[in-house]
Amino acid sequence: MAAVVMDGRALAAKIKEEVRLRVERMEHKPGMAVVLVGDNPAALAYESGKQRDCQQCGIYYDTFRLPESTTQQELLEVIGVLNDREDIDGILLLVPLPGHLDQRAAVMAIRPDKDVDCVHPVNMGDLMLGVDSFQPCTPAGVIRLLDEYHIDPAGKRCVMVGRSNIVGKPQAVLLLKRNGTVTVCHTKTRDLAGECRQADILVSAAGRAGLITADMVKEGAVVIDVSINRDAQGRLRGDVDYAAAAEKAGYITPVPGGIGPVTRSILMENTLTAALRHGKK
Ligand code: NAD
Repeated sequence: MAAVVMDGRALAAKIKEEVRLRVERMEHKPGMAVVLVGDNPAALAYESGKQRDCQQCGIYYDTFRLPESTTQQELLEVIGVLNDREDIDGILLLVPLPGHLDQRAAVMAIRPDKDVDCVHPVNMGDLMLGVDSFQPCTPAGVIRLLDEYHIDPAGKRCVMVGRSNIVGKPQAVLLLKRNGTVTVCHTKTRDLAGECRQADILVSAAGRAGLITADMVKEGAVVIDVSINRDAQGRLRGDVDYAAAAEKAGYITPVPGGIGPVTRSILMENTLTAALRHGKK
């Protein structure tokens, strides 16, 4: 039987509408600032997406496009100003930064209560400790999509393919927090197919199109494809061989239209949360 297709666009629209309705009632609107160094086209496209999302939600938006030649001192000054601005509740620093800049020092300079992307070690540490703080948008989006379809990870075998700091590691922690039995796979995993075949919930964020074939999917499993790859024709694809896997899985996310839009909506929600924590009403 064909899998239920998990509709990330519909969930994202719902989350953004909830944010918009809450923001509408606020006298002092939440604000987000995006800091971008250099003119990487992918980062520019990403930045304009954030602007659109903020507009849709009624969140004040400011952008800082700094030249490639920006020094570390200049970057830290911009972050310092944004840390102090009361109209800004969330700061998003687009990475990677040009090679001459110290990315870790820049991230460390962001005030943790404005770190809506959850990249600061304080927020990552809180996540690890189970303390309520910001949750990184993509892994939190995966959990929200599972919730939306009433899929409870508790007691289930969850296999996470990928161990990056922005997706794999925090995803494993969030699945563990929901009482999943979690295995994390990576490039040194000996038997990736065997591990994946055990999964009741399989989350892939390897960034390798075609890595997860249908024979790696257990009958009836939940398959979440986080990756965004481009094929030879320039079309977006995930890691999963979607058409074949959808014949075996119980639930599956498409690419595009799966985790991507949910991730973006969680960023809006985190910005609203930051504003409420800053006492905005
Ligand atoms: P990354 O390159 O930092 O990490 C990839 C991970 O996958 C690594 O830990 C690596 O060990 C593992 N991996 C790679 N090839 C593998 C293989 N053949 N077998 C087993 N493990 C393998 O990437 P990332 O930043 O975590 O992003 C992963 C993917 O998710 C990318 O395609 C990215 O574009 C996408 N992404 C999507 C969203 C979203 O909103 N949907 C957000 C962030 C990242």
